[in-house]
Amino acid sequence: MRAIRGATTVPADEPAAIRAAVKELLQEIAAANALREEDILFILFSNTADIRSLYPAKAAREAGFVRPALFSAAEPVIDGSLPLCIRVLVMAEGEGRVRHVYLRGAAGLRKDLKKFAVALDGPSGSGKSTVAKLLAARLNILYLDTGAMYRACALKVSAAGLPVTEEAVAPVMQGLDLKIEYENGAQRTVLDGRDVSEEIRRPEVSMAASRVSALRCVREKMVALQREIAAERSLVLDGRDIGSFVLPDAEFKFFITASSEVRAKRRYDELRAKGFAVDLAALQQEIEERDRNDSTREFSPLRRADDAVLIDTSCLTVEQVVSAVLCKIQEKV
Ligand code: C5P
Repeated sequence: MRAIRGATTVPADEPAAIRAAVKELLQEIAAANALREEDILFILFSNTADIRSLYPAKAAREAGFVRPALFSAAEPVIDGSLPLCIRVLVMAEGEGRVRHVYLRGAAGLRKDLKKFAVALDGPSGSGKSTVAKLLAARLNILYLDTGAMYRACALKVSAAGLPVTEEAVAPVMQGLDLKIEYENGAQRTVLDGRDVSEEIRRPEVSMAASRVSALRCVREKMVALQREIAAERSLVLDGRDIGSFVLPDAEFKFFITASSEVRAKRRYDELRAKGFAVDLAALQQEIEERDRNDSTREFSPLRRADDAVLIDTSCLTVEQVVSAVLCKIQEKV
């Protein structure tokens, strides 16, 4: 049996806002803890007394949580408590890790669950994403692959047949419908309501992402989205500019690199394993070109933050890199 806690806030005491907040909170709890509805035995809600227009339990029922027993109680009015706040206790079958979920400013309720960010920056193919996934699992937090977000932008721009210029792409960025969702702790990249997590891994999308990501309108939009996601929860993020620009106050920063030969060989093995026909020399050339694009772009280039720990993974196994990063983190906490 697992006891999972969570809380969120609502912008106003309105039924629609309460419904949306309860639905989001329960979905995030389910995703973070790999819960199916049939695993949930009961859900207890409490809400601050300034919420009067709809019981959270009723909102949950309306959102489709029909099997579990539900109960809501109003909290007493306590000076200084977070306003318009809904708390939840989800009791579920099963053993294993418990991830509590605090959204929309409610994390401040749990000083003991201090939020933190681990920034892993570095060039293409340095092994960041493999390390980031393992690290997130070990730390029991989510992983945000920011490269996937730029890849989704590239997909959008090339599907629209647009040239990669500020003028052409800025309007697309304004109306962009890009969502990052989590299923059993794994990221899903959803563009215009469609899961593009696989499609963005195609080799031709890599180079297109590198070009599109140099545009200021694209970076501003993605950086804002990344900051929004990181504001709500602890994360491991990998990218090019996380420690230097997106989250300069990240608690832990690493710059992961490797020689371009080693990086090209890793990409080659990875793509071959997925069945793509690729050429090693061409891949190395492409990696070096992406390095150039990423490091020389004007706005927020690939750069090692002054306070990032440098790890050269050329001669290290994945497990050695993960251990080195974990060691540094544990030194500080
Ligand atoms: O990491 P990945 O290869 O998936 O990233 C695709 C492209 O997106 C990179 O070549 C880089 O140009 C860009 N990118 C970026 N900033 C990030 C993450 C990725 O510019 N934070």
